[in-house]
Amino acid sequence: MKYKHLFGPVPSRRLGISLGVDLVPHKVCSLNCVYCEVGRTTNLTIERKEYIPLIDILTELENYLNEKPDLDYITFSGAGEPLLHNGIGKVISFIKENYPQYKLALLTNSTLLYDENVRMEILDIDLLLPSLDAVSDNVFKKLNRPNSKLDNSKIIEGMIKFREDFLGKIWLEVFIVPGLNDTKDELELLRNTINDISPDQVQLNTLDRPGTESWIKPITKNRMEEIADFLKPLPVEIIAKFQSRNKVKSYKKDVEQQIIETIKRRPCTDIDLSEMLGIHINEINKYLSELLLEGSVTSSQQERGTFFRAK
Ligand code: SF4
Repeated sequence: MKYKHLFGPVPSRRLGISLGVDLVPHKVCSLNCVYCEVGRTTNLTIERKEYIPLIDILTELENYLNEKPDLDYITFSGAGEPLLHNGIGKVISFIKENYPQYKLALLTNSTLLYDENVRMEILDIDLLLPSLDAVSDNVFKKLNRPNSKLDNSKIIEGMIKFREDFLGKIWLEVFIVPGLNDTKDELELLRNTINDISPDQVQLNTLDRPGTESWIKPITKNRMEEIADFLKPLPVEIIAKFQSRNKVKSYKKDVEQQIIETIKRRPCTDIDLSEMLGIHINEINKYLSELLLEGSVTSSQQERGTFFRAK
């Protein structure tokens, strides 16, 4: 079976071997973050609907999971906001009822957690990985460029309420963009707010490959360590570079080779590569990150997006 809505399993920085489930089409999102690694948001929305037929997602999951794959997590993620799919609760119940041996994780930008129905639908997951990059309205708008109907104070309130009802783990990610959310004022607001949310871990992240806007630069290691110290006693960690490919069971040398051979001939975007090679875009991105990290691939920002070429 050719899978359209499942990807991987991919090596994930935080989750080990993770099977991705993509519930919305590419770049259907409630935010348009300046650092987004999968390009600009093309549908900036907070409308929840069945973006992909539920039956298609369940059929793919059934086919894949019946083979009893060895996975650390099944993860709702992708190149958009998973909570925008109004069937996520049904997908969670389907997996929990039929394949209870698998742990479920959800990567979300948190924006829909203000909605009580959304919070109820995801109570059965094992691990929530929400994002919170800014507290002040001003920085939220500059950094995350939200849909105009979103109100950050309501989102934060929703996160606090979810923590009260949720029995699983919460690892909250803060993506640091120098010049935007690394000021003393914003960091103080973040520290107080995160304290109220009370996650099990706070994970600091920064750019490891080109973001949507070419002016975004990664923060230095020293500055990141200072920020981590500033946020203590919160349980802060700086997310390490992702697992070396040699240690990752699912890292496929032939996929890496196909990517390199393609971009040797001409520079391509991640979308081009995905279409040409018939590999899910998220999977392509994992390989590109690893190749960029080791320096065998370079990138440049052009009008149509970020282009990758082999060195
Ligand atoms: S980083 Fe996530 S939340 Fe932000 S625009 Fe990209 S997909 Fe949406």
